[in-house]
Amino acid sequence: MSVDRSTIWPYKDGEPGEFIYQRYGHPAGVEAERRLGELDGGHALLFASGSGATTALVLTFLSSGETIALAQGAYFGTGVIFRELERWGLRVVEFDQTGTPPDDVDLVWLEAPSNPFLTMPDLAAAAAHPARVVVDATAATPIHLRPLEHGVDFVLHSATKYLGGHDDVLLGAVVCKREDDAERLKEFRTRSGIVAAPDPCVLLLRGLETLEERVRRQTDSAAELARRLQGHPAVQIVRYAGIGGLLSFDVAGADEARHVETSLKLITNATSLGGIHSLLEARARWEGDRVPPGLLRLSVGLEPVEDLWADLAQALEIPGGFPAHE
Ligand code: PLP
Repeated sequence: MSVDRSTIWPYKDGEPGEFIYQRYGHPAGVEAERRLGELDGGHALLFASGSGATTALVLTFLSSGETIALAQGAYFGTGVIFRELERWGLRVVEFDQTGTPPDDVDLVWLEAPSNPFLTMPDLAAAAAHPARVVVDATAATPIHLRPLEHGVDFVLHSATKYLGGHDDVLLGAVVCKREDDAERLKEFRTRSGIVAAPDPCVLLLRGLETLEERVRRQTDSAAELARRLQGHPAVQIVRYAGIGGLLSFDVAGADEARHVETSLKLITNATSLGGIHSLLEARARWEGDRVPPGLLRLSVGLEPVEDLWADLAQALEIPGGFPAHE
């Protein structure tokens, strides 16, 4: 799709047409929302980033004094946004998403699987809760999980990750089960201006064309790497949900984690996940003592799995620390 960057579209015979002003909507955004809505089975809306989508959702559906139940170990930045909003009267409690959400909350926020702990939520327990339920399915993608089919109200994606898929798009999405919820959220988006620009929407459309092939291959490679890492003497624990290309594993401590980060040759030492190139980083630099100091998050890309394993195995040969991998 070619990119129409217009911010205005002329009226015809004094009447506004389908597109009026870019903040209200634009052709690439509408088309990308149509495709994403089909993938998740709901009404999709795009935002400037995943974090922008989170902010818009909370500000649209919650009021001062209301409480979010947030999955423990969910994406660090989500909790940071919610705590920022505490200044505006929002309350946040954390809970174990593998069980039942607490009573007396107004929004339940799950992550499938959680980043970087890779737990899966109990969707049935959450869907039975009277509050609205959101599933951040960034790491699962609609290829592995369509949360709306499990009775929840919203799916959230950082489209920056798997949906875009090439580490060159910053976008977020909310897919609503109910049309009236989508209308409310769209009105807030239009008024607040947390909108997606046309260029990233065109890149998202390109990414969606290869989503299934990418995610299936990344899942196969991640499952194989998780299995091999499990047997490595320098690795203490491996976390993998069985779906998707994201996993995490622990080495002994911060020094060992730094050794792995700086020894990689093929895998890039950078943040983010979901792209075609594999990325690894120690999460403690961002999340502090919320994560073990030796926790390494690995986003598996499309490189041949034997090349990825060879890179990990050589980086895990930690001098003086552990027996070399055989
Ligand atoms: N949700 C998850 C699970 C994420 O991993 C991220 C980013 O890392 C976000 C949301 C935020 O998305 P963005 O970086 O597009 O704002």
